[in-house]
Amino acid sequence: MARREKTRDLPIVVIGGGIIGLSVGWQLSRRGVPVVLYERGKTGQAASRVAAGMLAPHSEVGFEEEDFLKLGVAGLEDFPRFLDELETDSDRRVELDDRGTLIVGFHRDDTERIRRLYEFREHLGLPVKWLPGSAGRDIEPLLSPKITASIWLPDDTQVNNLELLDALALAFVNRGGVLKEMTPVESVNIEAGRATGVTTATDEITAAAVVVAAGCWSGGIDGIPGESRAPVRPVKGQIVTLRMDGDYEFGHVVRAPDVYLLPKNDGRLLVGATQEEMGFDITPTAGPVMRLLERGWEAIPSIYDLPLESVDVGLRPGSRDNEPLVGASDVDRLYYATGHHRHGILLAPITAYAMTDVILDGKLPPLFEPFKPTRFMRKKRARD
Ligand SMILES: Cc1cc2nc3c(=O)[nH]c(=O)nc-3n(C[C@H](O)[C@H](O)[C@H](O)COP(=O)(O)OP(=O)(O)OC[C@H]3O[C@@H](n4cnc5c(N)ncnc54)[C@H](O)[C@@H]3O)c2cc1C
Repeated sequence: MARREKTRDLPIVVIGGGIIGLSVGWQLSRRGVPVVLYERGKTGQAASRVAAGMLAPHSEVGFEEEDFLKLGVAGLEDFPRFLDELETDSDRRVELDDRGTLIVGFHRDDTERIRRLYEFREHLGLPVKWLPGSAGRDIEPLLSPKITASIWLPDDTQVNNLELLDALALAFVNRGGVLKEMTPVESVNIEAGRATGVTTATDEITAAAVVVAAGCWSGGIDGIPGESRAPVRPVKGQIVTLRMDGDYEFGHVVRAPDVYLLPKNDGRLLVGATQEEMGFDITPTAGPVMRLLERGWEAIPSIYDLPLESVDVGLRPGSRDNEPLVGASDVDRLYYATGHHRHGILLAPITAYAMTDVILDGKLPPLFEPFKPTRFMRKKRARD
């Protein structure tokens, strides 16, 4: 932030109290900067609450996504430091669940598909093991005897995102951050090409910088000129929560065709998730949920008798190329941390560190080069 010396006492405003806004706000506060975070409802209630909490760069990587894989792997590596700092500031310990992930197939078509996934991961040098036939059942005995092959990914982990969100809100406030819940930002104020603050229904605040971290709503905030808005859309995800009783021993993340199943440390078993282009509609619907449960039951037949606790719907922030927007916009002092789509939990720590670097030191880490918001904007900046 080039003119920081002139704006030293002004706060940085963060718009949005999901995992991204909370992480960025907290890390900025840790660096001794005054931060005001506006959340239009309660923090951590939108996509970040509904998320499954997988930290899965190795199982998620597609054939065209090597830049994204590098970011995801580095993001996973940042988690232990982030959780240690979080414990210091919140007095809450959030643990990583590192019991590993299985990708499974059920017939020849699946087997060929996952073999290609396996070979691609092996080619990239990722930790991965091919388990022929029903060998995956030695790792996860609840898997259906019908499995034909599986891939073992020992390094993909998961976290309880509900615990993480609670700890982040606490840590932010403990570090002196000002949290304004139930306060939607109505517009970003821009004067002479520079973001100068925000307006809410009750408040107008002058800021040293404005960070838009409003999830799938990031592109709809008034005051930002059309060409400088983040091109993000909502991508609907439905997810089913079942309840495991004390004797139910399901211990690994299982990814089967069109479904994943995750045991959480608080007894929930998540069966997710759909990916639908339905605008801002958050109605749970029978067909997609029926399909999730059916696919989940094919993989782990014993889920049939588990109590069904809830069906939740979240809206992932998906950008035009489905990859994140992290860093400066083409408006001076206006920054984006959004568009994390299916990976916002995984990428929260690395995004928070990158945002503090770019806002306070004027340097975006090289890994984020392909993910600069200005790739979508007309006016390019020499220095982000
Ligand atoms: C079913 C499902 C499963 C998922 N599973 C995973 C997973 O396993 N691993 C993973 O890494 N990711 C997962 N994700 C993706 C992850 O949930 C998102 O990438 C992440 O939550 C995005 O966080 P966010 O803070 O950007 O958005 P959100 O959590 O949506 O938060 C945005 C916040 O901004 C607030 N806001 C909006 N407009 C304004 C305004 N004008 N003023 C003030 N506040 C405003 C909203 O109220 C909201 O609280 C999943 C998502 C879904 C839906």
